[in-house]
Amino acid sequence: MKEKYDFLSIEAKWQKRWEDAALFRTDDAAPGDPFYLLEMFPYPSGKLHMGHVRNYSIGDVAGRYLRMTGRNVLHPMGWDAFGLPAENAAIQHGIHPYIWTSEHMEAMRDQLKRLGVSYDWDRELATCSPDYYKWTQWIFVQFFKEGLAYKKKNPVNWCPSCETVLANEQVVDGACERCGTEVGKKNLDQWYLAITKYAQRLLDDLEQLGWPQNVKTMQQNWIGRSTGADVDFDIEGFD
Ligand SMILES: [Zn+2]
Repeated sequence: MKEKYDFLSIEAKWQKRWEDAALFRTDDAAPGDPFYLLEMFPYPSGKLHMGHVRNYSIGDVAGRYLRMTGRNVLHPMGWDAFGLPAENAAIQHGIHPYIWTSEHMEAMRDQLKRLGVSYDWDRELATCSPDYYKWTQWIFVQFFKEGLAYKKKNPVNWCPSCETVLANEQVVDGACERCGTEVGKKNLDQWYLAITKYAQRLLDDLEQLGWPQNVKTMQQNWIGRSTGADVDFDIEGFD
C-alpha cells in the first residue's frame, strides 16, 4: 500500500468512472420516492470559494445519503447568471458580460466536478440563457396582467462614475464600493412587484411551518406588516 494518498490520480479515476456510468443522472421514471434536492445557484462572477465548498458539500452529503436510503434524488445545478453581480464583474474587468459569465460558469463547473459533487449535469441551467429567461419574462407578464407588477419613479443609489444603480449593500459609508466615488440619488423609473399585497397571507401561513420560533420571528419582522399603534399618553395636570 502506498504511504501517500495520491488524490490527483485516484479522484480523477473515480470521477471519470462516475461520469461514464452517468451515476448521478436522474431517471424520472426510476423507482423510489422522488426527492428534489436544491442548494443554491452561485453567481458566476468569480470562482468557487470555501463558502461554496461548505454549502455544496452539505447538499452532496444529503443527496448521497438519500440515494442510499432508496430515494430517487434529483440534484441539479445551475447559475444565477443575470444581473448586477455579473454586470459589475464585467465592467470591472472590461469584458462583455456574456464572455465573462460563460468563462466563469465553465471554471466553476470544472471546480464542482473536481469536488465530486453528485449533480445531474444534464439538468444544468443558466438564468442568462434565452431558454431560461423566456420563463422569467413570461411570469413577469402574468404579474403585470394581474396588476402585481407596476412602474413608478423612485430615487435609487447612483454612482456617477460607474454609471450604474447600486444596491444598498454596495454603498459603503456613502461611497461606491467599487470605485470609491460619492454615491448620489437619482430618480429613475423602476418596476416593482406588489409583494405587500401578500403580507397577511405570508404571516398566516408562517404558522403552518414547523420552524423554530426565533426563525419565525425573523420572518415576521422581514415581512414587516404594520398597522400602526394606538398609544395613550398621560399629560400632567390634564384629565
Ligand atoms: Zn462607482
